[in-house]
Amino acid sequence: MPDNLNVTNWGNYPVIEAQFAEPPELRLAKDFIAQAHPVIPRGMGRCYGDSALQKHILSTQKLNAFLQFDEDSGILSCQAGVTFDDILSIFVPRGWFLPVTPGTKFVTVGGALASDVHGKNHHAEGTFSNHVISFKIITPDGNELTCSRNENQTLFNLTCGGMGLTGLIIEATFRLKRIETAYIRQEKIKAQNLDEIISLFEESASYTYSMAWIDCLTKGKRLGRSIMMRGENATLAELNNLQRKNPLIPHKKARLNIPFYFPSFALNSFSVKAFNTLYYHKQFQKSVTNLVHYDTFYYPLDAIHHWNRIYGKNGFTQYQFVIPKTHGREGLTELISFIGKHNMGSFLTVLKLFGAQPENFLRFPMEGYTLAMDFKIQPKLWKFLDEMDAMVHLFGGRVYLTKDVRMNKSFLMQTYPQAHEFEKHYSALNPDNKFSSLQSQRILNTNSTN
Ligand SMILES: Cc1cc2nc3c(=O)[nH]c(=O)nc-3n(C[C@H](O)[C@H](O)[C@H](O)COP(=O)(O)OP(=O)(O)OC[C@H]3O[C@@H](n4cnc5c(N)ncnc54)[C@H](O)[C@@H]3O)c2cc1C
Repeated sequence: MPDNLNVTNWGNYPVIEAQFAEPPELRLAKDFIAQAHPVIPRGMGRCYGDSALQKHILSTQKLNAFLQFDEDSGILSCQAGVTFDDILSIFVPRGWFLPVTPGTKFVTVGGALASDVHGKNHHAEGTFSNHVISFKIITPDGNELTCSRNENQTLFNLTCGGMGLTGLIIEATFRLKRIETAYIRQEKIKAQNLDEIISLFEESASYTYSMAWIDCLTKGKRLGRSIMMRGENATLAELNNLQRKNPLIPHKKARLNIPFYFPSFALNSFSVKAFNTLYYHKQFQKSVTNLVHYDTFYYPLDAIHHWNRIYGKNGFTQYQFVIPKTHGREGLTELISFIGKHNMGSFLTVLKLFGAQPENFLRFPMEGYTLAMDFKIQPKLWKFLDEMDAMVHLFGGRVYLTKDVRMNKSFLMQTYPQAHEFEKHYSALNPDNKFSSLQSQRILNTNSTN
């Protein structure tokens, strides 16, 4: 039975009251979809803003069965509510890893596909959908369809990155990646400024994984000082004797927890500046190479449950933009200077260089630099982000929908070349806006009258 609950996503903003159903069986999910209007699917709610919020929410967390696995090819079929956490726990010991993973393992397969997530290997291995062979979906009219690159191809493309607006993904089939060990050979290199980190990204193109933590509060010659982390899956021969005893050891459950919301004054420009300075100077040497477990390399934030509470009860948002590589140096210099000028630095700012990938409706990545920053919700934030949007647009870039909570329609239409096309298909699939989110009501023509 659905409950009326207060629901929010990872940014704890906004919090809404919704009818929330978490059916343990597909039959009950179909019944809920038939009567709920408007409705949006939800996985683990790890999107930051309002993409998975609506008056009626269908959570897939109990639709989480593994269906089939081929040990030779690594092809896995599972229900959409299976999490990356579950997949790693079961398949790392058998020598398989996720082909693409975001910076948290607490996401569902359905959520990863609907946002078409990227990881530290985007330049080498693309987004999650690149590894998806097919999926099953219940469309807004209640039909169950199989979609692949050969069958219902348009719906396949619309759904990858389609933010849950094309229906409920119920199952997916995708390829896992072979690994010899659960470890990554990591190189951490300090860069004194933006020029140096851009050169490092360019010379790291042959590495499978790369990203950088960047300090957005420094100025002048130190503008954009960073620490690059690049890596490769470690082979058995690289492990020490202790690691070799259990080379495919999966991650452990996190034991730390933030039990309450921090007061809102705890996080301010002084604490962020202090954190950034300490973080940068924690590494003495220019470069350090070591073997780290995948959980440390990919998911450092997962070590603390509910870390989102440090931003206080008013919540926070993440702003992630990408700008074309050709404007990288100039665009990043202007945008980071602007952030510093407004003292809006975030202590979790991540920089990556995406590889080339064809446009696909609402999919986010393009060949270029992407920067993701967390900002606590405060009155001056909205104007600041509108100004950031204008600069991102000027440099030919765009903003990631799965992190968004305030983008407007004209910005979406100007920055995603296939957004109009998506909207046309969306209206045909959803003549009465049945599948819609608070976000889609803001950025597409989906205002539901119900
Ligand atoms: C700490 C952290 C780090 C992150 N790092 C990255 C990163 O590196 N790269 C990246 O790309 N993203 C990143 N993200 C964002 C995250 O990967 C995405 O928001 C992902 O979609 C969340 O999955 P979820 O299962 O929680 O989906 P939700 O947050 O519940 O939903 C996200 C979207 O998917 C839709 N959806 C969910 N399930 C289904 C379904 N079964 N059928 C149809 N639509 C569905 C929802 O309607 C919504 O539009 C990060 C998030 C956090 C909190």
